[in-house]
Amino acid sequence: MTGSIDVMLRDLNLDILESLPKDFDPTTVINDLLLPVANDVKLVNGIEKPREIFLGRNVHSSCLEVTEPDADDEVTGEHEAYMASVLATYQKYILERTKHHLGYPLNLDFGYGALNQLHYFTINNGGDPFIEPNLGLHSRQFEIGVLDWFARLWELEKNEYWGYITNGGTEGNLHGILVGREAFPDGILYASSDSHYSIFKAARMYRMDCEKVNTLISGEIDCEDFKAKLFLHKDKPAIINVNIGTTMKGAVDDLDLVIKTLEESGFSHDRFYIHCDGALFGLMMPFVKLAPKISFKKPIGSVSISGHKFIGCPMPCGVQITRLKHINALSRNVEYLASRDTTITGSRNGHAPLFLWYALSRKGYRGFKKEVQNCLRNARYLKGRLTEAGIGAMLNELSSTVVFERPQDENFTRKWQLACQGNIAHVVIMPNINIHQLDNFVNELIESRAVWYENGKLKSPCVASQIVAMGMAKPIQWRKRKGKVVEMEDASRVYEVVKMDVPMTDEVARVKQMDQMVKVDVPITDELAHVKQLDTGGVLVMCAAA
Ligand SMILES: *Cc1c(COP(=O)(O)O)cnc(C)c1O
Repeated sequence: MTGSIDVMLRDLNLDILESLPKDFDPTTVINDLLLPVANDVKLVNGIEKPREIFLGRNVHSSCLEVTEPDADDEVTGEHEAYMASVLATYQKYILERTKHHLGYPLNLDFGYGALNQLHYFTINNGGDPFIEPNLGLHSRQFEIGVLDWFARLWELEKNEYWGYITNGGTEGNLHGILVGREAFPDGILYASSDSHYSIFKAARMYRMDCEKVNTLISGEIDCEDFKAKLFLHKDKPAIINVNIGTTMKGAVDDLDLVIKTLEESGFSHDRFYIHCDGALFGLMMPFVKLAPKISFKKPIGSVSISGHKFIGCPMPCGVQITRLKHINALSRNVEYLASRDTTITGSRNGHAPLFLWYALSRKGYRGFKKEVQNCLRNARYLKGRLTEAGIGAMLNELSSTVVFERPQDENFTRKWQLACQGNIAHVVIMPNINIHQLDNFVNELIESRAVWYENGKLKSPCVASQIVAMGMAKPIQWRKRKGKVVEMEDASRVYEVVKMDVPMTDEVARVKQMDQMVKVDVPITDELAHVKQLDTGGVLVMCAAA
């Protein structure tokens, strides 16, 4: 399915642009569509204030007005021609933006031409997918086919699962947490601080008590802290969100360790509910060796994914799978629909199941496996090129999310549509991204950095300190994956520990042995206080916490 952009270029009907009115300048529309650059940091009385976001302001600078057709428009066709020109210009814009997209996990490598003829139809899958509604304009047969595919992937029998095609990962999370809440009305919601914001939104919507659990440097849930938080509410059932790929660092929570922690804390299987947020990597993990396995053979309650991320559906959509027994507690009969009210929204997009069915059928398990391997390889390639160029970068073991220093120029960030947080930015490698694009990106970054850091006025941000500042549970203690606590020797200053693959230099100062799972590649700068070579070949770095 590669080359779809080239096909789009060919199909892009440039003749329409040629027939535009003489005074029509397409570049003005393109600029109008791009929001003005906002500086993320502004100085107020010499103090840096982060950019504030105001609801409803600045929107109109990018508005394409709805214009009334003239009374004689059917005769002149002027209005139609104007609309066609606006759409053609938009197509040009979206094509250009598609070519420079690295930051968000969207697979833009698709070709769904075979579905074109179905765009003419209204298709609505409102209601429970497993109950034939009176409304016949649906695509439920495709929806159930897709759900069966996922139930098989996550090892749940056909007669034991329930699910539906959602509007995206967020709706899956809202549903999963709701199912958990209905199973345990007085349950406490536990979610790591790196969880997607939709989890905390669910807690507010459903007025649930929520415990935020700390994360390790990698972004994984810290099960020591989880255990401590569980201890605080031993008498209440637990509803847990487990991340299969966190949004910013692409970290995969250790599902088995979460279950073990629950068991060790005295929670029997009938006193907890686990929702797995697989929006990002839910469809990648099954194809990665050594990755924690998501399976309903384990005591989990639901899994959701996004359909527009790795699968590459052009419209937002997702899949939610849970156990049938949980749904019976949730559903209410709705006579009007002649169906059950089991979903979050009423009307549901009936086109999305067609796209998902088409993508799964074309790629199959083998196709996905190949794409996943490609993504992981390209992610390693990008990290390698960044480190080679002396740019700090981090890549979690089971992830295609490459984290690196935040670019100093918002125009650069916007051009490549990078997602940023504090000092760091990330690129999420999806199947549509190839080595050639990555080379272009890195080369441009290297050129731009030469300008940003010329004459030493600006200093490149210390990626390690940011990663650490964001992900550390306790400033002085550092917990290893297996739960052992490692005390730092120098308690007078707060140091954080990161294992890095960097060459040894004279700056190597302090020696300490550790086996850390996170690998952070950063060039050695003054900001890194202590460095040590590990037996494993990596280097241990302690930097003063930000
Ligand atoms: C993207 C994402 C979501 C939300 O998914 P949408 O499809 O955008 O609603 C939830 N969780 C994680 C970890 C994500 O990366």
